[in-house]
Order: sequence, then structure tokens, then C-alpha cells
Amino acid sequence: MTEGRARLPDDQLAANFADIAPPLTNDAALLEANKCLFCHDAPCTIACPTHIDVPAFIKKIATGNLRGSARVILDANPFGHSCARACPVEVLCEGACVLNERDEQPIKIALLQRHATDYVLARKLKLFEPGPPTGKRVAVIGAGPAGLACARDLRRRGHAVTVFEAKPQPGGLNTYGIAEYKLKTDVALAEVQDILDLGVELKTGVTVEAIEPLLADYDAVFVGIGLGSTKKLGIPGENLAGVVDALTFIEHLKTHPYRETAVGRQVVVIGAGNTAIDAVTQAKRLGAAASTIVYRRGEADMPCYHYEYELAKRDGCGFRFNATPQRILGNGAVDGLEVKTAGGTETIPCDMVIVAIGQDERRELNWPKDDPRLFVGGDCSNGGAEIVNAAAEGVAAARKIHERLTNG
Ligand SMILES: Cc1cc2nc3c(=O)[nH]c(=O)nc-3n(C[C@H](O)[C@H](O)[C@H](O)COP(=O)(O)OP(=O)(O)OC[C@H]3O[C@@H](n4cnc5c(N)ncnc54)[C@H](O)[C@@H]3O)c2cc1C
Ligand code: SF4
Repeated sequence: MTEGRARLPDDQLAANFADIAPPLTNDAALLEANKCLFCHDAPCTIACPTHIDVPAFIKKIATGNLRGSARVILDANPFGHSCARACPVEVLCEGACVLNERDEQPIKIALLQRHATDYVLARKLKLFEPGPPTGKRVAVIGAGPAGLACARDLRRRGHAVTVFEAKPQPGGLNTYGIAEYKLKTDVALAEVQDILDLGVELKTGVTVEAIEPLLADYDAVFVGIGLGSTKKLGIPGENLAGVVDALTFIEHLKTHPYRETAVGRQVVVIGAGNTAIDAVTQAKRLGAAASTIVYRRGEADMPCYHYEYELAKRDGCGFRFNATPQRILGNGAVDGLEVKTAGGTETIPCDMVIVAIGQDERRELNWPKDDPRLFVGGDCSNGGAEIVNAAAEGVAAARKIHERLTNG
């Protein structure tokens, strides 16, 4: 992707991709922690898919015990670092905070979680140990949050774990997909390294093509392969230069210096889910003069979270509702998108089209659904959710695998 380079200076690009929710200072964290009511049967803990004991970790921050606080978080959620940056907290823990019912701001749980987990990550503090060796071996396919959460908890129980990962780097979408202004690749990789340091064997650049040989070699297999590539639009012009799928666009942005990712002057993003929002905002932040969502349904039907929509509006992105893409126009390179609207057919001028209409399931790897030694979790089994769900499912699978390996 070299054509149509972003024209913003490097310092402007760095500012545009700086953390959207900057970390709390120590004083601000103490103040915030002391606002917590420390509820019993806390609704925030119930709302968190990994059921982190939120009042317990906040209380430890309030008493200055950041290491202990991080231990509470990471004990329940091996991806507590990235979740603190990327969880949709408005619909999870913070949305459940009782202060909402008093028309007050909820406790800033994610920022407090980040405060504690940053403390241990920056100091490379080791909070967990591998368990005594059991002699059992588990293969994990996919080094995303699901696979690595499972791997970490298996190591804590003393099982040997080998993780097979197709990509050159581990981390799954944490490394290659989460919006740059939420989670940076170096943070994602540092979090992964912390897990690998427990003695997880990682084989990158290995695409597992069949499960049966692994079932023959290992005592159990966990499949955490996530979802596949972006769905095709199936309209004429999809192969023109300047048409790119959202995951490829975001992955390029996250793995290259910002100025090396091509962005048009007039960008159109097709779709209205969270990935579409990530694409439209990041295109704008790269320097597109106009970056517009085109969606076939109405505003109220958008599948993205409300706060993501608000972010895109704040970034100055445009929205065209009730406009169904018919054809991508251009002679070699894209110069417009033809859409059908209530008023007829219309052409939206653009020099880049980003397709963000969801990911296909991975069909290339089949597995015997009834083998009791086989476990599955994360996006490939829940259809696509959040990091915290993948982590929760990886942790739950590790518990089940352990039960099987020790009782079976
Ligand atoms: C653009 C985008 C933005 C997102 N933003 C957020 C967000 O802000 N907050 C949030 O909480 N969630 C977000 N999500 C969702 C989140 O990233 C996923 O729910 C989570 O990463 C799922 O984890 P996973 O381990 O199941 O899958 P993945 O992260 O997809 O990891 C699967 C891994 O398996 C590997 N793999 C696949 N097939 C094979 C094979 N045959 N052999 C070996 N390895 C294989 C893949 O290369 C990959 O590394 C976003 C998703 C997308 C697409
Ligand atoms: S992991 Fe996510 S949902 Fe759970 S408490 Fe932390 S920020 Fe909230």
C-alpha cells in the first residue's frame, strides 16, 4: 500500500493515534478509587465476562497496593492489560456501576484497571508461576486472546503447552486489529510475552491444516482460531485499485510507520459495525479530507456501539444512511461508489473504498465436533465478540481441560 500516502506530518500522525483514553496520574487514580462504594455482589463484577473482582482491585489501588491490585485483575483475566484499554465498558462493568442509577458518572473501572496493570507491565513484575509439571501436553491452535488465555491457565496448572500461530507475531487481533488509538502493538506484544514467560512454547508462522495429527500427539487440543477475512460485497468494481478490506487496512496501519499506510482524500467505508467505525476514524486520523460511512439501513439500525458512533462523529466523519452500494466505479482505480437511495441512483465520489461488512467464519480447518479431547473458544465459537469474551472462554476451557487431564 504505497499510493495515496497520508499527507500529514509525522508528529500530527503520532498525535492523532495517541491513546484515546490517556492513563490516570497516581493522584487521580487514588481519588477515583476512593469514590468506589465497594458493593457486595458488585454488579460490575457480574457484568464483566471474566468476573474480575472489581471492588477488590479498586480497594487495593486505594491502599497503594498496585501489585496486589494487578494480581486480582490478571488472576481472573490474563488479558487484563488490553481489556483495560479496549473493553466496551459502557455496556459491561461501567454500564453496571450503581452510580449510574444516581445520575452520577460511573467509576472509571477501565482506567483504574489500566493504572494497576500498567504498573506491573512497565516493571516486568512476574505475578504468576507455572505449576508443578503434570506430564500432560496440550496443543493450542491460534495465539489470540482465547488461545493464550487458555495457555496461561494451563501453564499455571503445570501442563505443557505448545501454541501454533499462523501469523509471524502472536496476539491475534490484539496485535493486528484493535484500533491504534486504543491499543498499540508493543503493548499487545508485551502482554503476550508475560504469558509466554510462564514457559509456553510458541510456534509462529505455522498454519495448522488438520486437527487429527495434533489429537494423536497431545492429550488435549484447544482451538482458538478466530474469524476469517472480511466478507465480499459481491458487487462490480470490487477489484479496482483503491478498494481494500477493513482488516487489511487496519493491519497495515498497525504494522508500519503511519505515513506508509495509503489513504485516499475521499474515503468511503461500507458497513456500520464497530470495525467500520474503526476504519472510518483511522482513515480520517491518517489524513483523509473526508471519511464517510455508507450504510444500507438507517441510523437506528447501526450495529456499532453508540459511543463508537459518537467518536466517529467527533472525528468529523460523515454518514450516509439508507444508501445501498450497487457498483464501485473507476477506470483501473476507484473514483466513485454508486448507491441506491429512496430517491434513485446516486454516485458518491471517492478515491478509496474500505469494505467492513463483517468477517467470514474460517472454513479451512475442520474438526471432529464430538471428540472429548477437543475444546473451542473465542471468536471462532462465539461468532465474534470482544477480547474479554475470548479471554473468559480461554480461561473456562483451561479449567475443563485440567479437569479432564486430572480425572480422565
Ligand atoms: C477491527 C476489529 C476491532 C476490534 N476492536 C475491539 C475492541 O476495541 N475491543 C474488544 O474488546 N474487542 C475488539 N475486537 C474483537 C476482538 O479483537 C476479538 O473478539 C478477539 O481478538 C478474539 O480473540 P480470538 O483469540 O478468539 O481470535 P483472534 O484474535 O482472531 O486470534 C486467532 C488467532 O488464530 C490464528 N489462526 C487462525 N487459523 C489458524 C490456523 N489454522 N493455524 C494457526 N493459527 C491460526 C490467527 O492468525 C490469530 O492470530 C475487534 C475486532 C476487530 C476485527
Ligand atoms: S475486563 Fe473489561 S469488562 Fe471486565 S472489569 Fe475490566 S474493563 Fe470491565
